Amino acid sequence: MGICHSYAPDGRCIALLKVLLTNACNYDCLYCVNRASRTSPARASPSMKVVKLTIDFYRPHYIEGLFSSSGIIAAPITRWSRW
Ligand code: SF4
Repeated sequence: MGICHSYAPDGRCIALLKVLLTNACNYDCLYCVNRASRTSPARASPSMKVVKLTIDFYRPHYIEGLFSSSGIIAAPITRWSRW
């Protein structure tokens, strides 16, 4: 639980620790448990706690990497660039 699998460019299956950094989100996507109108309180994981947890799982080879995601705490910056 909390470990997902992905594939490396060479085809190897790798285990990643999947962490939600925060469920605080300004958006209100109706299908999402983290939407702004949710009734549960927002939580956030302190960065150093995530780093320590990742290292603690990495050293004994439980994982090979970290997959972190989060809600959108503030308005996202939209940048349009020209190629
Ligand atoms: S976390 Fe993503 S999917 Fe969920 S409400 Fe925010 S923007 Fe929408």
